[in-house]
Amino acid sequence: MSIPILEVIDLHAAYGRIEVLRGVNLSIPKGAVMALLGPNGAGKSTLTKIISGQKQPTSGDIHLGGVNVRNAPSEELARLGLCTVPEGRSVFPNLTVEENLILMSYAGVPSGAVLETAFSYFPRLLERRGQLAGTLSGGEQQMLAMSRALASDPALLLLDELSMGLAPLIVDELYDTVAQIAESGVSILCIEQFARTALRVSDYAAVMTGGRIVATGEPAEIMETMSDVILGGAA
Ligand code: ATP
Repeated sequence: MSIPILEVIDLHAAYGRIEVLRGVNLSIPKGAVMALLGPNGAGKSTLTKIISGQKQPTSGDIHLGGVNVRNAPSEELARLGLCTVPEGRSVFPNLTVEENLILMSYAGVPSGAVLETAFSYFPRLLERRGQLAGTLSGGEQQMLAMSRALASDPALLLLDELSMGLAPLIVDELYDTVAQIAESGVSILCIEQFARTALRVSDYAAVMTGGRIVATGEPAEIMETMSDVILGGAA
């Protein structure tokens, strides 16, 4: 069996004296899409912050492609192929779509390739290439944020609350693209409140409550056994 792209081992984390991750174990096979689901306050964002190097755990380990990256600096995580699309998008509002994308070429990626990838996944960005990013719709900004992440040719893409504040139709469209990105061989972890949509394109799902992973499995199984936890009020 090949080495998982991500392995989280007995991870603990706290804010001050309050422990919020209480022994998280999670494994994502190479090339898979995994949905990380769970109610508000379960610890999903904290786990995401630790995986992406923005917060230190109190104990436990994280392996990225077999390399122990606990407490690794963000440059090393990037070098190993981790790329995060943070919650709330992260585009430069006063630059155009094209300028936002070309900025990625300073990270060593040729600008032509960056634009080509972005416009092939999101033709709408081609139509809007001269428009200021701050004037795009929420869904289009999310497309731009995803395109910027893809420019770094990631091995593992971390998508944090892709659906936040977006209409269901747009969320569906974005997840169709997530499925296409996965087909190209990128492993993906989707942290999501929109359980139904994320499960539609996922190979596996993990459910988190109270700082622990309480279930992992295939989407149909998770939907059947954990629907009360993952659907909450919304779907
Ligand atoms: P949400 O979807 O609401 O962000 P979540 O599953 O991502 O929920 P976290 O944001 O990781 O959960 O929160 C886990 C716990 O840690 C919660 O009890 C939350 O109140 C607490 N918490 C989160 N951030 C901080 C912080 N900066 N300082 C103190 N406590 C925090």
